[in-house]
Amino acid sequence: MKVAVVGAGPAGVRAVETLLAHGIRPVWIDEAMDGGGRIYQRPPAGMQRDARTLYGFEASRATALHAALDAAKARADWRPETLVWNIRPGQKQLNTLSQSRQGVVAYDAVILCTGAMDRVVPVKGWTLPGVTTMGGAQIALKSQGCGIGRRVAFLGSGPLLWLVAYQYAKAGAEVAAVLDTTPFATKLAAAPGMLRGPATFAKGLYYIGWLRTHGIRIAEGVTPLAIEGDETVAGICWRDAKGVEQQVACDAVGIGWGLKPEAQLADLAGIPFDFDDVQHNWVPRRDAAGRTPVAGVYLAGDGSGIGGAEVAELAGTRAALSLLQDEGRAVETAALDHKLASLARFRVALEKAFPFPAHLAVSLPDDALFCRCEGLTVGDLRVTTTGPTLPAPEMNRAKAVSRAGMGRCQGRVCGAAAAEILAAKLGCSVAEVGRLRGQAPVKPIPLVAAP
Ligand SMILES: Cc1cc2nc3c(=O)[nH]c(=O)nc-3n(C[C@H](O)[C@H](O)[C@H](O)COP(=O)(O)OP(=O)(O)OC[C@H]3O[C@@H](n4cnc5c(N)ncnc54)[C@H](O)[C@@H]3O)c2cc1C
Repeated sequence: MKVAVVGAGPAGVRAVETLLAHGIRPVWIDEAMDGGGRIYQRPPAGMQRDARTLYGFEASRATALHAALDAAKARADWRPETLVWNIRPGQKQLNTLSQSRQGVVAYDAVILCTGAMDRVVPVKGWTLPGVTTMGGAQIALKSQGCGIGRRVAFLGSGPLLWLVAYQYAKAGAEVAAVLDTTPFATKLAAAPGMLRGPATFAKGLYYIGWLRTHGIRIAEGVTPLAIEGDETVAGICWRDAKGVEQQVACDAVGIGWGLKPEAQLADLAGIPFDFDDVQHNWVPRRDAAGRTPVAGVYLAGDGSGIGGAEVAELAGTRAALSLLQDEGRAVETAALDHKLASLARFRVALEKAFPFPAHLAVSLPDDALFCRCEGLTVGDLRVTTTGPTLPAPEMNRAKAVSRAGMGRCQGRVCGAAAAEILAAKLGCSVAEVGRLRGQAPVKPIPLVAAP
C-alpha cells in the first residue's frame, strides 16, 4: 500500500512513527529543511543553542520528538525541502516541487499534517518594515537566534502573545509593551475551564506573571490605533481599556491573533469545510479519529483545526491508526480517544479566553490597507457589495470583483479579516459570506517550475 504523509511537525512525526511500527514505509514530505514543525523547529546545523534555551518548558518534549523524527527519517522515504503544491484526489496524486524540480507522488492513502499559520487583523501601519507576525518573530528567535528588533512591542491576543513576549525578554530583547486586545475579564471568565489543562494553564500564568514582575508594560482590552513610523516602525499607539490614548516607542512590532489551519490541501482534496464558532475558523470536516469524507484522505494536527502541539502528536498517531483500521488491521485506540476528547474540552476554554477580535476588522476605516499583495483598502472590499459590477454576496465573488485574495498569499493572510469586513457590510454572519476556495498552487512556485 502506498501511503504519503505531508508535514513533519508533531502530527506528522507521530503518524509516520505509527505507520512504520506497523510495517508501512510512507513517503514523507515537508517543505522545510528539517522536521519538527513550528513549535519544535530546529535551528540550522551548526547553531550552538541547547534545547532548554530554544524550547523552554517544552525542551523535553522537543528532544523526544526530535529523537522520534530522526529515527523515522532513517526508515521512511523522507523528502525534506519539498513543497506539496497540489493534490489530485481523483488520480490519487500529490504534485511536488523540490529545488525547482516537479514531482508526482502517487498514493493509496494520504495523511495531511500541514499545521497552522498566524491569524492577522490589519492595523493602520501593519505593512511597515519592522512589523512581523507573532510566529514569524518567534521563528527568527528559534531558527536564527535573532530578534525582529531591539525594542519590540507585541500586539494581539492568544497564548503566543505572552509566550513570544516572554521568550524575547528572556533572550535579552527589550520588550516595549505587551498589548492584548482581550480584556482581562474575558480571560478570567474562561479560567475555570482552563483548569482542564492545568500544566498549560500554569505555564500561561507563569509567562504573564514573569512579564509583570519584570516591569514590562502590559495593557489588556486595548484597541489598536496605529503602528507609527515613516519608513520603518517608530512606535505603536492604542486606546486603553478606559478609552485613553497611549503610545510607546519601539522599532519592531509582532502581531497575531491566534492561528488558522493551513488547510488548502484539504480543500483541494475535496473535503468539505465547516465554520467552527468556537475557534472562529473554517475547518476541514473530519471525525475525532482523523477520517474525512474523502476516502483515503486523513487529517491530523493544527491543519485540521487548532489544537496545539500535544493534541497534534496524539492526533497524528490516531490518524495513522485510523488508516490501519480501514485496512482491516486490529489496533487499540480507546485510551487515545479518551485523551483526545479531554484535550478538546480544554481547547474550548482556551479559545474562549482569547476570542478572535472580529470587531477590530469590522471597525477598520475605509482607507486602511487590508490586502497587501494587491494593495487593496477596506473600502475597495466594502464597495464590492454594492457594485458597479455584480454585487458580491460572498467571499469568492468579492475576490473576483476586487482581487482580494488573488495575490501571492492567496488570501492566507488577509482572508480572515476580509470575511469579517464583508459580513459586517452585508449584515450577515461571517459563516454566511463563506471562505476563499483553495487554489493550486497552494503557495507560490517559480514560473520556471510550472507544469
Ligand atoms: C509560527 C508558529 C509558532 C508557534 N509556536 C508555538 C509555541 O511556541 N508553542 C506552542 O505551544 N505552540 C506553538 N505553535 C503552535 C504549534 O506549533 C502547533 O500546535 C503544532 O506545531 C502543531 O503541529 P502540527 O504537526 O499540526 O503542525 P506544524 O508543527 O505546523 O507542522 C506542519 C508541517 O507541515 C509542513 N507543511 C505544511 N504545508 C506543507 C506543504 N504544502 N508541503 C510540504 N510541507 C508542508 C510545514 O513545513 C511544517 O513542518 C506555533 C504555531 C505557529 C504557526
